[in-house]
Amino acid sequence: MNKINNLIYLDNAATTKVSEDVLNAMLPYFTQVYSNPSSVYSFAGKAKKAVDEARVQAAKLINAGAEEIYFTGGGSESDNWAIKAVCEAYREKGRHIITSKIEHHAVLHTCQYLEKQGWEVTYLDVDESGMISLDALKAAIRQDTVLISVMAANNEIGTIEPVAEIGKIARENGVLFHTDAVQAYGHLALDVEKMNIDLLSASGHKLNGPKGVGILYVRKGVKIHPLLHGGAQERNRRAGTLNVPGIVGFGKAAELAKAHMEKTMARETQLRDYLITRILTEIPYCRLNGHRTGRLSNNANFCFRFVEGESLLILLDQLGVCASSGSACTSGALDPSHVLLAIGLPHEIAHGSLRLTLSEETTVEELDFVVDGLKKIVARLRAMSPLYEDFIKGQKEGDCNVQ
Ligand SMILES: *Cc1c(COP(=O)(O)O)cnc(C)c1O
Repeated sequence: MNKINNLIYLDNAATTKVSEDVLNAMLPYFTQVYSNPSSVYSFAGKAKKAVDEARVQAAKLINAGAEEIYFTGGGSESDNWAIKAVCEAYREKGRHIITSKIEHHAVLHTCQYLEKQGWEVTYLDVDESGMISLDALKAAIRQDTVLISVMAANNEIGTIEPVAEIGKIARENGVLFHTDAVQAYGHLALDVEKMNIDLLSASGHKLNGPKGVGILYVRKGVKIHPLLHGGAQERNRRAGTLNVPGIVGFGKAAELAKAHMEKTMARETQLRDYLITRILTEIPYCRLNGHRTGRLSNNANFCFRFVEGESLLILLDQLGVCASSGSACTSGALDPSHVLLAIGLPHEIAHGSLRLTLSEETTVEELDFVVDGLKKIVARLRAMSPLYEDFIKGQKEGDCNVQ
């Protein structure tokens, strides 16, 4: 239980709490060492030293070199930068990009923008668990393919993509490989060398660091133009006075994630599987979305038939539970998640989705409270559903669980 807000927070894929240690590492850089690291006096040197240290911490988590890490304003900026700037730098090679249908909008909308600029984009399908097909990837590669951008782990359904295999294929074909690792960085083991990753995006606030700060890893030798023009910060690649407290917080969060990753993953996996088992066995007509085992250790995503995801969220909120649904409210209409549609769910089922994402602080008691509440909420919403009534009438006997 989140004692301050009296909440059960199960939306850690949306953002996480800044940990006490991260906050304490950041604090001196607001009011004490507030210097601009680009200045020449020794007071500036203190801030610069802190940034250098954070760069090493950020790099170590993915086995990169510190000089290959660029600090940005977050995951969306890193995704935009990686894709737009690589395409610009390598445009003489061709005008083709390969990505997947389940990317975050920071990648998808960037690709759509480039399509309007004359680029061709192949959006790879995924199977029912949310995995891309390596054969389809190989088949999509052309002479003029400049970039493959496939996420390391999906933010909605938690499925982990075969990053090392993608990297190998990209390398063998001489194509650059970018991965949006915003959900994976600090949550599962990543190694840019072993996995042949050329560019990688991550964001501080998804690993108990601050919001508004991220990194782009760019392999040494990869050409990349700046996205933001101005000062000479970040070796002339990303203009703007450095967000020193944010960067220090990012570095600390990366260091802590590395130190605790194995333990956190093991604990979260156990809790996640407990939650999944309880929901699937105790609530009828529901399904788990995403890969059963090849998924983020803190992610559980379900669809409940004859129920609207939005209604679930409102009623859970009344119990003090923060969760998320795949539906995005655009211009008053509820669009089902592009991820749930891509794994083959029909609209009416995709609408009834619920994502619960745990943290290292989540307890069994919290999960029990949520499942008990959810059982009642789902039953209550179904009791009001004419579709459910018809379904039950037409259903002579028992079990017809959705897949
Ligand atoms: C959160 C998220 C982003 C965006 O990161 P911000 O720092 O919020 O801009 C991008 N990709 C994925 C997979 C995410 O989960």
